[in-house]
Amino acid sequence: MKLHFQCVTLASVMLLVLSMSGDLRAESDEGICHFKVGALDFYSIQDDVGEMNDGALVTDDKDALARLAPTGRTPSGYAVFVVKKGSDTVLIDTGKGGKLLRRLQKIGVKPEDVKNILLTHSHGDHVGGLVKDDRKVFPNATLRIAAAELAFWKSARNGNLCEQCIKLYGEPEILVPDEKTAAVFPELVSVPLPGHTPGQTGFLLASEGGNLLVVADLLHNGAVQFARPDIGFRADNDLKLAAEVRRKTLRRAADERLLIAVSHLPFPSVGRVVVDGDGFRYTPSPFSSGAVLQTDGKSPE
Ligand SMILES: [Zn+2]
Repeated sequence: MKLHFQCVTLASVMLLVLSMSGDLRAESDEGICHFKVGALDFYSIQDDVGEMNDGALVTDDKDALARLAPTGRTPSGYAVFVVKKGSDTVLIDTGKGGKLLRRLQKIGVKPEDVKNILLTHSHGDHVGGLVKDDRKVFPNATLRIAAAELAFWKSARNGNLCEQCIKLYGEPEILVPDEKTAAVFPELVSVPLPGHTPGQTGFLLASEGGNLLVVADLLHNGAVQFARPDIGFRADNDLKLAAEVRRKTLRRAADERLLIAVSHLPFPSVGRVVVDGDGFRYTPSPFSSGAVLQTDGKSPE
């Protein structure tokens, strides 16, 4: 069943000022939210929207689901992240082939401008924007991915294998997720976040007192998994490890007051967490947007 919702359209670009530490300002246009992270520009771009069914969660605690998500359905999204430093444009993931290209154009990025694509992991809703009509979408880009994830990508266990991606782009460069080695430039390093997939990788931006951590598919259901990070998602490759890494990373984000960017939270997919009892509480960054939301009830991976 397809559901269509018409959002309120606000034609003007809104300037939103976040009252948190560092130089963090957020501007939002339709499906695009622009943050300043020190000297870096960070964009959260909505590639598509969705809705998550509680059936995608793995738990016997049905009471918790009834309490945290009483309708059984939670808004979701598919975000792609862009980091700009001077003339360098870096893409973090590529979405599933939705609105990314049109929205990149709105921030002045042509496909040929993208020289580096960092992949958090190899599921189809993250690598799906790499190829269209058997051609590279980003003709000048080098793919970068963690070694463990590349091995997973090439293995039969990964049902979303995009052999064509590697064939067209060439063998990816290997990321070293040690938080010290530059992923592309020194203000952008990679962070190991295994569990959802064996080599899932996050990206930490730190510049002039501003910081932001891209956590990709650390969690999928914001209504449930912040409060209950022990509850898993059916596409998690290793449920136990995913839950451990989820709790540890959310704790870190709360302690270090990091903005987090989460691929499948609703737009703008960026916000802050605080510790709340045994779990966490999330506050999304403010934004203003106009869009036609289409949801087919499919869960992100
Ligand atoms: Zn995903």
